[in-house]
Amino acid sequence: MSEPTVVETPAALRLASERWRAAGLMVGLVPTMGALHAGHASLIRRAVEECDRAVVSIFVNPAQFRPGEDLERYPRTVEQDLALCAGEGVAAVYLPLVEAVYPPGFATSVSVTGTATAGFDAERRPGHFDGVALIVTKLLVAARADVAYFGAKDAQQCAVVRRLATDLDIGTRIAVCPTVRDHDGLALSSRNAYLSPEQRLQALAIPRGLAAAARAVADGVSDASAVVAAVELELAASPDLEVEYVAAVDPESFVPVATVISGTQILVAARISTTRLIDTLCAGVDEAPAVPPRAVVASAVGTAMAGRG
Ligand code: AMP
Repeated sequence: MSEPTVVETPAALRLASERWRAAGLMVGLVPTMGALHAGHASLIRRAVEECDRAVVSIFVNPAQFRPGEDLERYPRTVEQDLALCAGEGVAAVYLPLVEAVYPPGFATSVSVTGTATAGFDAERRPGHFDGVALIVTKLLVAARADVAYFGAKDAQQCAVVRRLATDLDIGTRIAVCPTVRDHDGLALSSRNAYLSPEQRLQALAIPRGLAAAARAVADGVSDASAVVAAVELELAASPDLEVEYVAAVDPESFVPVATVISGTQILVAARISTTRLIDTLCAGVDEAPAVPPRAVVASAVGTAMAGRG
C-alpha cells in the first residue's frame, strides 16, 4: 500500500496529470467533498481498475452551498480519507485550500442552462448547480483526466456534468456509477451522519418508496404518475419526512416523462428536520433497494425511544 501523493494547487494537479499522460498513462478523476464512505470507494475502485492512475479530489466547495446550508458543519475527515485512498491504490489526492481554488480576484462563473437545471434541486437550491458546474469545470480542466467518475444517486448533478463536459469540449469521458446503499437500504451519504437513530428509521421511507417504484415497474406499470404515487404512498408513512419532490425524468434532459421506460430516473428529495436527503432509482436497471419492512422499523423506533428513558 503506497501513500498517494498529495497535491494542493491546480498547477500541481495539472503537472502530475501531464506527466502521466506524456508517459502514455490513462488518468481517472473522482471528485468528492471528502468524508469518504463506501459509495465514494466504489467510484475510486472503478477509477483504479479502469485507469493507470487514479486521482481523488477532496474539496468542500463553498460555491455550491447556499447561505444557511451546512457548509460549516459538513463532515471533514481528511486523515481517514487519505487512508482510504491509500488502501484503494489512489495515485494522487488533490486537497486544495479554498484560496488555491478561488484566489483573490476570482471572477468567473459557469452556468449550465436548459432543461438539466430547469427544476428539482436547481429550483430548491438556487445557485447550487452553478457552484457545481464551476468546481467540476475547474477540476476537469486542471486534471485533464481521460475519465471522471460520478455517482448516479446525484442524478441531476450527472446531467449537469455531462452537459458541461460536452458543451465545453472538455474531452473527459463522464462515467456514472451505481448507488451504494447501507445495510438498511439507505443510500450512503456524508449527510447521513446528521441523522439521529429515529430520524434514520424515518428516512428509510425513501429507499422503501424507490423499492415500491421498482416493483411497480417490474409488474409492468409504465404510467409515470402511478409510479410516482407508489413512491409517495411509502413516503407518507414517515410523518417527519418533508417531501420536496418525487418525479420520473429522462436521464439526459431531466424533463419529466409521462411513461416510465428502462433508464427513466425516479427521483426523491426530502428533508428530515434540517437534513436534506436525495435518492434516485434507474427504472428497469437498478434492483429494488432492500429495506426492512415498516413494522420492523416501527418496533425498532419504539425500542430506541424506550431506551432513552
Ligand atoms: P460528494 O462527496 O457527496 O460530493 O460525492 C462525491 C461523488 O460520490 C459524487 O459523484 C456522488 O454522486 C458520489 N456518491 C455519493 N454517495 C454515493 C453512493 N452512495 N453511491 C455511489 N456514489 C456516491
